[in-house]
Amino acid sequence: MAIRKIVQMGDPVLRKICKPVTEFDKKLAQLLDDLIDTLHRAEGLGLAAPQVGIVKRVCIVEYEDKLYELVNPVLLSSSGSCKDNEGCLSVPGFRGIVERPEHIEIEYYDRVGQRHTLEADGYFARVFLHEMDHLDGILFADKMTRKIVDR
Ligand code: ZN
Repeated sequence: MAIRKIVQMGDPVLRKICKPVTEFDKKLAQLLDDLIDTLHRAEGLGLAAPQVGIVKRVCIVEYEDKLYELVNPVLLSSSGSCKDNEGCLSVPGFRGIVERPEHIEIEYYDRVGQRHTLEADGYFARVFLHEMDHLDGILFADKMTRKIVDR
């Protein structure tokens, strides 16, 4: 078990375009395990590798007690649009309203290199899109149409 430090907005690593994973090895498994431990400690819905300083296309999502490990995720299609509020473990102190697609289909690889596809709607889709944005150096704060300050 290894808890990694979550970097905060302002750190340049959060702005990097992450590199695709080419080796589905022990190091990748360790990164995924550490992301899971770190997410559980922080009690978030998702965490991306750049948030722990690793510039790789790896992220995890935990939604309704199900954990998804995404390696090299790609958005295959999207439709509709909806607005809802989002927060981020790397952006403390506020949340924001962000417009995103209502429905998505993604593909990704798991830790052993097996390809999967998944369809998601609503907030479930939103969590994937938020994490996938991290892999391209994008934060929700860049896209929000309204800022909600925590009290
Ligand atoms: Zn985030």
